[in-house]
Amino acid sequence: MKGSNSALPRAAPGVLRRTLGRLAEALLAAPLVRVYRTPRFDLYVRCSACGGDGITSRGACRACRGFGRVRLS
Ligand SMILES: [Zn+2]
Repeated sequence: MKGSNSALPRAAPGVLRRTLGRLAEALLAAPLVRVYRTPRFDLYVRCSACGGDGITSRGACRACRGFGRVRLS
């Protein structure tokens, strides 16, 4: 049996990163798109690997860790 919980970030990114991830998650779950005036949100774009769903046929998307968005570098 393999562990299927691979959504945990390998390097602990800290509380801030987790909070941003949850906010991004909430944004994806919201039926309407909100526009935030926080410049940080402009750094996130839809994940091309999963189309923004955060989930692929193999489980949580590895490219975006299930968030559906990836951060521009
Ligand atoms: Zn993805």
